[in-house]
Amino acid sequence: MKRIIIAIDGYSSSGKSTMARDLARRIGYVYVDSGAMYRAVTLYALENGMASQAQGVDSEALTAALPSITISFTPAGADGRQHTLLNGRDVENEIRDMKVSSMVSPVAVIPAVRHHLTRLQQGYGKEKGIVMDGRDIGTTVFPDAEMKVFVNASAEERARRRVKELTEKGEEVSYDEVLENIRERDHIDTTRKESPLRKADDAVVLDNDKMTIPEQMEWLMNLYNSRCL
Ligand code: C5P
Repeated sequence: MKRIIIAIDGYSSSGKSTMARDLARRIGYVYVDSGAMYRAVTLYALENGMASQAQGVDSEALTAALPSITISFTPAGADGRQHTLLNGRDVENEIRDMKVSSMVSPVAVIPAVRHHLTRLQQGYGKEKGIVMDGRDIGTTVFPDAEMKVFVNASAEERARRRVKELTEKGEEVSYDEVLENIRERDHIDTTRKESPLRKADDAVVLDNDKMTIPEQMEWLMNLYNSRCL
């Protein structure tokens, strides 16, 4: 069967990572979570005094530090999840917390960060047979991807899902705080100059507000099968 590139873009907490990971496992493709790469760079900036809530991001210092930031992924474990490694350290949990979530979009507007991560992401796609999710995968990273999906869900539904996810991990968060963070990230992600979040012209929209996970998978598999003909 023909091996293709699958780009899944959409808003924060739209469930795109779960569906991209499940799809990759089902069809035996490599899965890359590009958001985790932006989150890892953000964690590096926070830990090295290059970003804070009060001061914002020191883009010059972070740009200069990019060559010393290595991001990699462990193979998927028994739970099917890959873990993100920052300079060899497992940071999978830390990159998901609110501290990182609230600084990641300001880090992701920095053009040098985007160019650096885009090049790494394009390297992963050289052999095809890849599912990558993010914000600019269908528009900038893989504009020639054979299958492009744009995932849509309301901010309220996404906030509910995110609160559930964080609460299950033991993080105490309020619905209002999470909703505000999601709206703020949507705003920054869609209005930034460099590769803003937008649907690629040839992407197919998946509105998953009221869809179950098995329904989404069936929808994705139908599209995948039609693209591999
Ligand atoms: O996908 P996730 O919500 O983990 O992404 C975190 C943040 O990383 C997004 O809000 C966005 O600012 C940034 N990002 C991006 N481009 C991507 C993936 C993520 O700008 N391809």
